[in-house]
Amino acid sequence: MNEQLIVDYKNFLNNGKTERECVEQIIKMAGKKGYKDISKFKKLSPGDKVYITKMNKAVALFEIGFEPIEKGMNILCAHIDSPRLDAKQNPLYEKDCITYMNTHYYGGIKKYQWTTIPLAIHGVVVKKDGKTVNVVIGENNDEPVFCISDILPHLAQDQMKEKASDFIKGEDLDVIMGSVSPANTENLTKEEKKELKEKSKKTVLALLKEMYGIEEKDFESAELEIVPAGKARDMGLDRSMILGYGQDDRSCAYSSVAAMLEMHAGKRTTCCLCVDKEEIGSVGATGMASNLLENMTAEIIALTEANYSELTLRRCLSNSYMLSSDVNAAYDPMNAGLYDKENASLLGGGVTFQKYTGSRGKSGASDANPEFIAKVRAAMYDSNVTYQMAELGKVDQGGGGTIAYHAAKYGMNVLDGGVAVLSMHAPWEITSKEDISQMYECCKAFLGLN
Ligand code: MN
Ligand code: MN
Repeated sequence: MNEQLIVDYKNFLNNGKTERECVEQIIKMAGKKGYKDISKFKKLSPGDKVYITKMNKAVALFEIGFEPIEKGMNILCAHIDSPRLDAKQNPLYEKDCITYMNTHYYGGIKKYQWTTIPLAIHGVVVKKDGKTVNVVIGENNDEPVFCISDILPHLAQDQMKEKASDFIKGEDLDVIMGSVSPANTENLTKEEKKELKEKSKKTVLALLKEMYGIEEKDFESAELEIVPAGKARDMGLDRSMILGYGQDDRSCAYSSVAAMLEMHAGKRTTCCLCVDKEEIGSVGATGMASNLLENMTAEIIALTEANYSELTLRRCLSNSYMLSSDVNAAYDPMNAGLYDKENASLLGGGVTFQKYTGSRGKSGASDANPEFIAKVRAAMYDSNVTYQMAELGKVDQGGGGTIAYHAAKYGMNVLDGGVAVLSMHAPWEITSKEDISQMYECCKAFLGLN
């Protein structure tokens, strides 16, 4: 077990609860290992380390290899967005002396899991003058946290009869931001009554102004994410596991980045790409369905080659290998019937490779080639990496997609791999420390593929 890796991983989770915070951390880590922004280079030569960011929400690290780049790259790819609640653009309202923040959830969640737990707010507010205000509140012990209330059991007899998917409505996932005591308005003048109207909301807005210098209108150009408050912790008496928010897919992203920073490119150029928007279908300019990877690779080729050519770009991508790393649903003994145990990933069983993802007839899968899987198997064997071949749940039970097929469209060999997670997409997800260690070793071995 790589103890230091686990400590660093937990810190990464604690300081990276949004894609922006992850990008910031990755750049900082890469900077310490000699990586520089692409704008600093006029030409790239073997051994050069460079990063490219996109909108502060996606980032790629490259280390240039000795071989011509058209021979392809070894790419580690993971996503750094996680399920959460996003503040709406007109979020604040007051109802009977309590102020709420209206949200729209992001990614696939079981809505009832997000009530009655401490929540923190992370994100940015961009003011009209273009100035960005960073917001993080609810993480330090002396800071307040936020919460979504739920009905007490005593009055929940109707709620408890409803379907779990319905009894907490998406529209009702509103976060309590503040409260005031209801005033006795009987003897007040009209003016005084007016003054009391929306008193709680006014107080919240005044505090936001004082703390961050933001006005209510500034929420229009804000990206505020409501996430579980608190740190990733060791879990179990034997401390064999980690309980933490956002391990889908930051467990893979962190392992990939750490491996990239530790390894040196040999023949092949290496790349570690951390993308956004996977949880909502990889759409958007920072998601894998965009031309992000293609554009970034084109920029690299423009600096490594004497003459830029589109054919070089196409050959480079087509000859590349990618480990599309994302988490897999760990076999859950409490719900054994949902899994084909022989083809499920076991917590602590090492890296999980998936030949295909998708659901109900492999729909949406890129389906890796056995020739390529054999190559990866051999590399894992040579590096003593423990791995398991698995799929997500029983054939007709459901399933999930990853970013693999977006990369496969360039003609490259892609294999899905990752870490098994219990209670995936819950506010607090469970992983095994052993799997994180193995994932890191797997990523290092993958970068060394020839
Ligand atoms: Mn994922
Ligand atoms: Mn996910």
